Amino acid sequence: MKLLRIYKDYIYDLILRNQEKDGETLEFWKARILYTIILFFGPFSLLAYTPALIITIQERIWSILILDTVIFIVLNFVLYSRAFSIVTKKIFIVICLYILGAGLLFFMGNFGPGILYLLALSCFSALVISKPAGIATFYVNLGLYLLIGFFLHLKLRVFTGLEYYDFESWMGVGANLVLLNLVLVYSINMLVTGLSRKIESEYNMRKYIEKENVELQIARNRAEEADRLKSAFLANMSHEIRTPMNAIVGFSELLHSRQVDDDKKKRYSQIILNNSELLLSIMDQIIDLSKIDAGVIRIDQQHFSLNEFIEPLVSNYKLLCPENLVFSVDLAEDLTEMEVLSDPNKISQILNNLVSNAFKFTPEGEVRLILEKEGAYLLFSVQDTGSGIPAHALPKIFDRFYQVVTHKSGVGLGLSISKSLAELLGGSLEVSSEAGKGSRFTLRIPAIS
Ligand code: ADP
Repeated sequence: MKLLRIYKDYIYDLILRNQEKDGETLEFWKARILYTIILFFGPFSLLAYTPALIITIQERIWSILILDTVIFIVLNFVLYSRAFSIVTKKIFIVICLYILGAGLLFFMGNFGPGILYLLALSCFSALVISKPAGIATFYVNLGLYLLIGFFLHLKLRVFTGLEYYDFESWMGVGANLVLLNLVLVYSINMLVTGLSRKIESEYNMRKYIEKENVELQIARNRAEEADRLKSAFLANMSHEIRTPMNAIVGFSELLHSRQVDDDKKKRYSQIILNNSELLLSIMDQIIDLSKIDAGVIRIDQQHFSLNEFIEPLVSNYKLLCPENLVFSVDLAEDLTEMEVLSDPNKISQILNNLVSNAFKFTPEGEVRLILEKEGAYLLFSVQDTGSGIPAHALPKIFDRFYQVVTHKSGVGLGLSISKSLAELLGGSLEVSSEAGKGSRFTLRIPAIS
């Protein structure tokens, strides 16, 4: 029992192991048939060979003895050896069966199983190799039958097996054989073609369903993620709105109380003003975000001069620059005359955010706006000598609501919006930074000169 299992496993490894990955395709089923044939071939060929051996020795038919022995050894060796591919094994089966069939027919005539072998050869080729192989073996058999007919007609009885026939009887037998061979090859080919179509369509259908399932799962995950993000967004937003609102309401109430002197009134009004501005900017950012999410942000491409675009922005940044900082601009000489095709409002929205962040996170030193051209791209870099961003925070810096420190004003939406806008402009927003040394944010947009 154990020996049988080892034998079966060996043949399985030999023929089917590599076919498994193809699933149940026609090739897989052909390999399965070959697997079954090879499984039975060894014991059966031994069963067929042993009596043939005894008879041929007794009858002294040396030619058949040699033929049988050579084919028995060669075929067993090729079929069971790992050194030969499946295709080689199939070709060997066909060649050996053919030699054996033809030899038996020539030497034993209707006393041997030659005709049976030749018919089996055609069926095997059509079933396990291919449709053309089946047809080819039919033609080879037809040629052989005609050759025998030709020998008999000329009364050339060079082979012992032909003595059993005369021309007329062979014509009858041959015609039957040809017809039977044709019907068998034709039916098998038809069956294989039909099965092949069926298996292929089922296989395609299964693949399609599997693909659809994967896509459905992805869509479901996305929907769940979107739902989760939306809830997180709402929770974050209500928190961010509540903080300045509380300050506005609280200090407005304090303003009404009688004990408040003028100094305090001034301070409270300033707090109310600051928080109102923060609230407004939060509202603007929420509107921007929802427009980006809804895909309704319009990019208004126009031609404009880089110099004319940057000048008012720079004057504004100089005005806003805190006292302990120096703001400077690097604009290469050859860029001053440059004409750009892009959306100037979106670029200034991104730059405003980058520069105001640089002012906010640079206690002292310098903030520099650098304009460069790199191939077909225009680069706007905002570089500061501020607090920098620690390496662990860099991968999350463009995430919504992400803030390295929470004690500064802001809600952590500006960079996320800026990055989306940069991508809408066909460009990108990148960061390089070192904690304690400063940061450099670079907006890269396609531009024409
Ligand atoms: P906000 O500035 O409103 O918090 P942003 O999305 O613009 O939101 O920025 C997110 C976070 O990235 C900031 O809270 C800050 O921690 C960090 N950051 C942005 N710019 C800089 C900078 N120039 N230097 C240091 N940290 C920065």
